[in-house]
Amino acid sequence: MNQSVPFNGTPLLSLIVPCYNEQEVLPEFMRRVLPVLQALPGMNYELVFVNDGSRDDTLDLLIGIAREHDYVRVVDLSRNFGKEAAMTAGIDEARGDVVVPFDADLQDPPEVIPKLVAKWREGFDVVIARRVDRSSDTYLKRKSASLFYKFHNTISDIDLPENAGDFRLMSRDVVNALQRLTESRRFMKGLFAWVGFKTAIVEYTRQSRAAGKTKFSGWRLWNFALEGVTSFSTLPLRVWTYFGFVTAFAALSYAAFMLIRTLIFGNPVPGYASIVTILLFLGGVQLIGIGVVGEYIGRIYIESKQRPVYLVQARYGIGERAGRGGH
Ligand code: UDP
Ligand code: MG
Repeated sequence: MNQSVPFNGTPLLSLIVPCYNEQEVLPEFMRRVLPVLQALPGMNYELVFVNDGSRDDTLDLLIGIAREHDYVRVVDLSRNFGKEAAMTAGIDEARGDVVVPFDADLQDPPEVIPKLVAKWREGFDVVIARRVDRSSDTYLKRKSASLFYKFHNTISDIDLPENAGDFRLMSRDVVNALQRLTESRRFMKGLFAWVGFKTAIVEYTRQSRAAGKTKFSGWRLWNFALEGVTSFSTLPLRVWTYFGFVTAFAALSYAAFMLIRTLIFGNPVPGYASIVTILLFLGGVQLIGIGVVGEYIGRIYIESKQRPVYLVQARYGIGERAGRGGH
């Protein structure tokens, strides 16, 4: 069945699917997602897959899907640019009146999409899908994620909604606003929050991956968290000034204490241990400070090159037609 219609007045939903080595899950993906899209009342749809430099047969599978359905387009990036860049590519490619980024692994149930659309029809520009139950994630991942959100929201100007991933619905206005943000290091969760707009929340339960493995190791997640903090807060840079003041004040007080003690008791044996401890402590603190400055300088350096966020090496699927919902 290949029900497709030319673009017309009916609102169009673009589902953006970044894929990196997702060959195991793609057939199941189409089986689960298509019926949901086809049932969307009064809504047309298109699927934009972004192949993020997969090393397996993902691209071939995607090309096959695009041949079969003329509302499917595939953007093939020239290498693996990471999920944030792949999503950006998909959002740039999307033509929809509403755009929904959606993971290929079916951790987010497609059945939530109609709920997002319903909220959008009520007049919201952003509809965030929030996970109420993350029991499908490991304890460590949940704990570290929750710590990250607390830390991030305390020190940043923007608030990231906790337990919300990239799965959400955005109206065309929001997408246009996103595209005006020119930074090349794209921490999407932060950018989504930064643009604001009238926002609603829909809750759902996150599942385990339908097939395949997660692409985010602990180290990748740590760097992702650093990216988030440094993209939206300068507090880690500024805190050193205050630390310097506190240390200088402590040093002065100690000097005064020693002066008075020497005046009263004379000059006792100098404290070798305390000198070494203070020296090492301050040396360590200074190195941490320089390290933090380095994190930011590295990011300024990369940003200053103004390289594109991603490169497309090929596009597949004509995408001149949309799928018709409501049947
Ligand atoms: N992904 C991507 N590029 C990458 C890593 C991941 O496009 O470099 C895609 C991946 O194919 C999936 C989505 O991003 O559709 C989420 O990845 P994953 O499920 O591995 O992340 P997790 O759910 O474990 O956070
Ligand atoms: Mg996943």
